[in-house]
Amino acid sequence: MDAHAIDLPDGRLFVGGVWEEGTGAEIVSIFPADGSVNRVLRGASIADGERAIARAKAAQADPAWRRLKSHERARFLHRIADGIEANVERIAFIQTRDTGKTLRETRALAASAAGTFRYYGAVLETSDDLATVQRGDALTLSLHEPIGLVAAITPWNSPIASDAQKVAPALAAGNAVLLKPASWSPLVALELARIVEAAGLPAGLFSVLPGAGSEIGNLLVEHPDIGRVSFTGGTSTGRALARKAAEKLMPISLELGGKSPTIVFADADMDVALAGVLFGIFSSTGQSCIAGSRLFVERSIHDGFVERLVAATRKLKVGHPFDPATQVAPLVHPTHRDSVAAYVQLARNEGAEVLCGGAAPEGPAYDGGAYYLPTILAGVANTARICREEVFGPVLVVIPFDDEADVIAQANDNDYGLACGLWTRDFPRAMRVGRAIRAGTVWVNTYKQFSISTPFGGDGESGLGREKGREGLRAYMTQKSVYHDLSGAPHPWAGEAIR
Ligand code: NAD
Repeated sequence: MDAHAIDLPDGRLFVGGVWEEGTGAEIVSIFPADGSVNRVLRGASIADGERAIARAKAAQADPAWRRLKSHERARFLHRIADGIEANVERIAFIQTRDTGKTLRETRALAASAAGTFRYYGAVLETSDDLATVQRGDALTLSLHEPIGLVAAITPWNSPIASDAQKVAPALAAGNAVLLKPASWSPLVALELARIVEAAGLPAGLFSVLPGAGSEIGNLLVEHPDIGRVSFTGGTSTGRALARKAAEKLMPISLELGGKSPTIVFADADMDVALAGVLFGIFSSTGQSCIAGSRLFVERSIHDGFVERLVAATRKLKVGHPFDPATQVAPLVHPTHRDSVAAYVQLARNEGAEVLCGGAAPEGPAYDGGAYYLPTILAGVANTARICREEVFGPVLVVIPFDDEADVIAQANDNDYGLACGLWTRDFPRAMRVGRAIRAGTVWVNTYKQFSISTPFGGDGESGLGREKGREGLRAYMTQKSVYHDLSGAPHPWAGEAIR
């Protein structure tokens, strides 16, 4: 399929099952490779959001949805997965236009989104409720029910995949879902709405409401009818939303930022480590919560390893996202590119040496695009701001270490706790160090591998709660215990009073 021939969504919002023009603030979606405008649309206003919530409430309460058996509800998830699979090229193209990611990457994200819907269809069909061990004259059951209305608030860096990670389990659990994508990437979520509609999901159960976080995002968190929020985004936003959730005593899950350590021991396979470190930081142009942005290299191999790393980084192909050879595509937006450049300047001010990169690439191929060269910094201690704060771009800091105790202390000396990568051929060491690092995910001799069946989440400033896996379904349900008396006899406590 010719990517250029694919139409972009027309910019109307999916408000409780009805396609409507938004009445909120203007959103301009641009193609980060050249700055051209993809679509100008109006985001969701408070009134649009309230209409979506009212429609969601009615649809979720409708017995036609509520009384569906698990295997019947699962059919919708499988049909959505089919719809995504049939439209992978279209979704990939729209997402590339919205975010500047390579088509290679957006195809993989679309395929993983289909897999997520299929997985939660399967989990739903195979999740048993429990008859708990009886301790009296009652049959005791532990059941799970939908929460009602769930809001999913997502960032711009991997839209279709992070959207699916929330929407699939939340719908599977029997809820209605209101999805608010980020303003830099509104289009692919609107395409998902078209697929969900075509899959026949009853109208009202799904909404897509791009718009300002401070307006529509805030409404979704504060509204009394929303029973749970699943948020992925920055730590300061997440913390603010958690405060609001506390006011309502509403459960909220937070997938937040990271400053993940990657660690190369002297006994590692050097080619495996080099490839893993490069992929860990520079794929997705570093715009990844799990980006391995702090590299610790054992001192005995430090200089040689860093020399090879810098040489390999210089050879990475920085280019247009439609070019199949491209490894490092533009950043999502010129504003974000400027923020990455400002972080590199900050590092310079902190005394960092720029081993490669440290600027935007030059040449006509990059004109108007939000490009930035893959950058490696050295010569700063782990306490520098460049080592503590999330850059969310293609910027790696290299730090030497002496031994296991030293690297564990340095890796853990950070407020985030999202991920960690270890390269070593020593299995007991990998287990020892991996267990000692504060991180939701540890990769050994690999990085950024994902499976929907394996839980994901962060500790510390990286978040609260876990997504994915079988338990990911239960996170969108509320548990109910039922005691069903089997004795048939009046409660003895009433005694003579009832005679
Ligand atoms: P962000 O926090 O600025 O925005 C995330 C979403 O929240 C957007 O949809 C935004 O509009 C919305 N939002 C902003 N203010 C809001 C408010 N007051 N009320 C309700 N919603 C509001 O983050 P971003 O810049 O879009 O994304 C980058 C961040 O996301 C990075 O910090 C990255 O690490 C993080 N991230 C984390 C994970 C993870 O799984 N841990 C995955 C991807 C991205």
